[in-house]
Amino acid sequence: MPELSPPKPSHKLSPGIDLASASVRLGGRVVLDGLSLRLTEGRIGVLGRNGSGKTTLLRLIAGLIAPDRGTVRVDGVDPFRDRKATLAALGILFQNPDHQILFPTVEEELAFGLLQQGLAAADAAGRVAELLAAEGRAHWAKAPVSTLSQGQRHYLCLLAVLLMEPQTILLDEPLAGLDLPTQARLARRFAALPQRLVTITHDPAVLREADRVLWLEAGRIVADGPPDEVIPAFSAEMARIGARDADADLAG
Ligand code: ADP
Repeated sequence: MPELSPPKPSHKLSPGIDLASASVRLGGRVVLDGLSLRLTEGRIGVLGRNGSGKTTLLRLIAGLIAPDRGTVRVDGVDPFRDRKATLAALGILFQNPDHQILFPTVEEELAFGLLQQGLAAADAAGRVAELLAAEGRAHWAKAPVSTLSQGQRHYLCLLAVLLMEPQTILLDEPLAGLDLPTQARLARRFAALPQRLVTITHDPAVLREADRVLWLEAGRIVADGPPDEVIPAFSAEMARIGARDADADLAG
């Protein structure tokens, strides 16, 4: 599995993400439990099993949900209350591009975010054409999105995010479900980005080069440190749980 590498050291990152005693309840259950975090590194990974609260944490940072308690700030801004500032400052790449893509053609899809940011239609079209040319994909402009492969649609979503020039990009299982060459290409693309990347995944291999890895379990941080400390501990625990489940299956 390709890894996400640190950003170029010359780039100045934005101030960072702050959570203070942030809790989220969903359906009467505490899904995130009093998280206090200051995230300033360039490559941050959130590792956890299914159901540990990763997606909820991403949605909280993105301002798609508000905390029930505590506060969230992204570069000093409350992402839930100040949607306009957050739209400019933060981009999200969802795991499934088809949950993100709204428009029939590539150029319409790419222009949408810029139009939302208030750019005039002609300027947005110009920026889209420029980007596609720079990426060697000018021929994609009029293409129906439905003719692109899954990997290409994922890449299209990344281009749409990059066009908006956010300072923080949130990645949800960014390489899951893609074939190996596409994973390698996308991982290289992510590695070269100057922005702060926050990546959520259940796959520790993706985070080997991260600056900092947070291990989330039942809505709490159980470990927080460099990948060479957190990943072995996580992997050992996953192996232990796997072995226990296998024993339980045999016993059953
Ligand atoms: P992960 O991304 O790590 O798989 P999630 O953040 O999606 O975890 O979910 C964490 C927990 O919150 C899970 O137990 C899930 O069932 C629960 N949950 C998520 N969304 C809702 C919701 N809208 N209502 C009730 N429970 C939810």
